[in-house]
Amino acid sequence: MARRRQVYEGKAKVLYEGPEPGTLIQYFKDDATAFNNQKKATIVGKGVLNNRISEHLMTRLNEIGVPTHFVRRLNMREQLIREVEIIPVEVVIRNVAAGSLSTRLGIAEGTVLPRSIVEYYYKNDALGDPMVSEEHITAFGWATPQDLDDILALSLRINDFLSGLFYGIGIRLVDFKVEFGRLWNGDDMRIVLADEISPDSARLWDLTTNEKMDKDRFRRDLGNIIEAYQEVARRLGILPEAGVHELRPNEPTKGRA
Ligand code: UDP
Repeated sequence: MARRRQVYEGKAKVLYEGPEPGTLIQYFKDDATAFNNQKKATIVGKGVLNNRISEHLMTRLNEIGVPTHFVRRLNMREQLIREVEIIPVEVVIRNVAAGSLSTRLGIAEGTVLPRSIVEYYYKNDALGDPMVSEEHITAFGWATPQDLDDILALSLRINDFLSGLFYGIGIRLVDFKVEFGRLWNGDDMRIVLADEISPDSARLWDLTTNEKMDKDRFRRDLGNIIEAYQEVARRLGILPEAGVHELRPNEPTKGRA
């Protein structure tokens, strides 16, 4: 079989050419990185869980009218997506103080914020994704003021919807990162949610115990990473029937070919 063309390889995902023009295949790896690539590991099964979790969240968001790049899941690790022009801005939405916000501003982790706070970071690994303002984004032409209006409105809707969705399954949506892209249809363009939403890109705390159920378990060496991601999937009602055993990649096939 002809090998399909790889379009892009990131830290946790690979993009391949899709079956039709305007589509791509997004492959979820088990690789995890933190602290701007200084800490690396393979977490067996993570890609399978993130594929399912992101599929679920994007599908639910689509149902309430949030446009996304997601088309459908293809298999355990891959999903078909629409090819978009990625806007080089990471949008972080915060409901509770944690991570870099706590460090930078000296606000204790866990402090409920007076309102949701939206931050922008310039997507540039060499520069360590520096925080930027709307002024930088529009002045340097990464997005237009109209794009940013759409991005902000979508981000707040996504936050409201996902906060409620997670609250309903006993999880606090502390913060999360999203990316957006431009989807062209002839001369028409709309801004759509792209990339992924998963425990790799969100902070998810158990509502009653405050236990972390996200990538902070890796960043802070808390252990039981895959168990935490599985628990998120289980509460969302999407854990693959077979459980963790089925998540192991590249196991030699036993028995019949
Ligand atoms: N985040 C992400 N990718 C990044 C940086 C942050 O997905 O490159 C997510 C992170 O998982 C968290 C939120 O964005 O849910 C806010 O992250 P923060 O700014 O606190 O940075 P961190 O403490 O993770 O360095």
